[in-house]
Amino acid sequence: MTSDAAPARPDATDEVVDLCRDLLRIDTTNTGDNDTSAGERRAAEYVAEKLAEVGVDAEIHESAPGRANVVARIPGTEPGRDALLVHGHLDVVPADPDEWSVHPFSGEIRDGYLWGRGAIDMKDFDAMVLAVVRGWQRTGVRPRRDVVLAFTADEEAGSDYGAHFLTQRHRDLFDGCTEAIGEVGGFSYSVDEQRRLYLIETAEKGIDWLRLHAKGRPGHGSMVHDDNAVTALAEAVARIGRHRFPVVMTDTVRAFLAEVSDVLGIEIDPDDPETAIAKLGPIANIIGATVRNTANPTRLAAGYKDNVIPGRATATIDCRSLPGQSEELERQLRELVGPDIAIEYVQRQPALETTFDGDLVVRMSEALRAEDPGAHPVPYMLSGGTDAKAFSQLGIRCFGFAPLRLPADLNFSALFHGIDERVPLDGLQFGVRVLDRFLRTC
Ligand SMILES: [Zn+2]
Repeated sequence: MTSDAAPARPDATDEVVDLCRDLLRIDTTNTGDNDTSAGERRAAEYVAEKLAEVGVDAEIHESAPGRANVVARIPGTEPGRDALLVHGHLDVVPADPDEWSVHPFSGEIRDGYLWGRGAIDMKDFDAMVLAVVRGWQRTGVRPRRDVVLAFTADEEAGSDYGAHFLTQRHRDLFDGCTEAIGEVGGFSYSVDEQRRLYLIETAEKGIDWLRLHAKGRPGHGSMVHDDNAVTALAEAVARIGRHRFPVVMTDTVRAFLAEVSDVLGIEIDPDDPETAIAKLGPIANIIGATVRNTANPTRLAAGYKDNVIPGRATATIDCRSLPGQSEELERQLRELVGPDIAIEYVQRQPALETTFDGDLVVRMSEALRAEDPGAHPVPYMLSGGTDAKAFSQLGIRCFGFAPLRLPADLNFSALFHGIDERVPLDGLQFGVRVLDRFLRTC
């Protein structure tokens, strides 16, 4: 299809709400335990059925009983071109109904929002993709390049049963894919009535989860004792927890701040980017974490009796490294903990970073501006990790682009894994229009 093709038929924008609602009503809580994460299979069957209804063959790939992924390929009209991967996960993090205003799996519509666990992370995007593709199939639209759809399991617990399983065991499904879109990006941040930044993810920090091991001499809690594993570990954990790693400006953050400075009309001191970032309000906690490596202690374990000094103590530290900084972070941590504490990596996945240029970026930006004349697309780095970690292992250039126009007063970042997660209905429909335009033209 050419770039002057008509935007989405109204039925895709209508249908997206029902599709998202159906998905929200399937409890796909990922507990990290295969025995209790069965909902993914039902969600996968739902997606495959919705695609089959309009003539798209989708295959379900199970990595373990109940852990199901769906993959389909929509052939493009220009077969010589590289394929685009569009991926979204189907699992969600747990939600406690007692804390919510509505039941988290009821898919309730209230005050212009669709409520439920997964409403923005990320069944909204799954539903948008389904709505666009179903609209195409009904009206005979085909994309220019092959579009591979992947709906994955297990993103919320490390992707071993989802994206990593697919890329390691079913690599051929992604033949020809050179670029990808998925979470977390394409959402709006209001500058004022007229202007909105749309944050497109071009980078994400690395995951460097590690365990500290302290050893000491076991003994009786009543006696003089100068080799206590708990004391040694506690000192190391406190040093890490209080440490602030130096600011390291990456290309992505520099580009983001340049755009922000331009649009907001503020000076940003390159030696002190955090003062400017603090002014960004609700997104400051995402952006603020992308100017330095971070390390947060999350777990402690030691001892088995009140009056026994244990011989060992362990702590888990959730570290996140900037692109190219993982080794440096390891060096910094070794210095902080000292020679007597052992460091073991329990998870180490590299950071990603791509440039904010090329045809795909132009198409994203055009699609956003066509639907929102006040749109200012900007690249940004996500402080967390996504399925892009797995897909980038195949050499795919990954972007976070799940377009969503948000009301100015909505604290979007707080809704991720948060209580009363919800998506604005008009934002969902906006997303369908942008995605449809983008996918037709890219
Ligand atoms: Zn997510």
